[in-house]
Amino acid sequence: MNIIIFGPPGAGKGTQAKFLVKKLNGFQVSTGDMLRDEIKKNTEVGRKIIDNMNEGKFVDDEIVNKLLENIIFDVAKKNRLIFDGYPRTINQAKNLNNLLNKSQQKIDYIFFLNVNKNSIIKRVEKRKLLEKRTDDDAQTILTRYDTYMEVTKPVLDYYSKIKNFYEVDGSMEINKISQKIEEILNV
Ligand code: AMP
Repeated sequence: MNIIIFGPPGAGKGTQAKFLVKKLNGFQVSTGDMLRDEIKKNTEVGRKIIDNMNEGKFVDDEIVNKLLENIIFDVAKKNRLIFDGYPRTINQAKNLNNLLNKSQQKIDYIFFLNVNKNSIIKRVEKRKLLEKRTDDDAQTILTRYDTYMEVTKPVLDYYSKIKNFYEVDGSMEINKISQKIEEILNV
């Protein structure tokens, strides 16, 4: 199965993706983690994206799309992909469709973790203390939320019309959300 976990920043996408990775022996595709890794390793890509990331802005589609290619065509990961934070733009959604078609795969399920703005702000404040992410400060999370509403929400409208799209109340406790997802997947 290939699954997309969709939702605003701070919705718990990473947490649920990790849960599914364990449950289904899947592979987490977190573009955020991959990009942070590029910065940590101080690669050419890392140096290009650091300012955008710290300001809570999106990284160019071209750079993010490129990160995906190797993963999608890796036979060991075929039909085991759990997308967390990708796609975030219409261009990325089209790119994903293309790559999946070419590798004879498809998206089997989409889970939209719906959480309101106030809860997100509170959650991200807590996460900042734990993970010390530079883009989790109070001002940057507002930029990230606005970008989500402006650029990523249209992707949601596109996916919400397709089969096996499920909206889950992302404000519930972590375990409850995982349980709900398990029920839907029947695993
Ligand atoms: P995340 O860890 O998914 O919250 O992503 C952290 C940051 O990485 C985002 O605020 C963006 O700056 C960048 N990023 C991650 N995924 C993408 C993506 N699919 N498209 C553009 N930028 C991304």
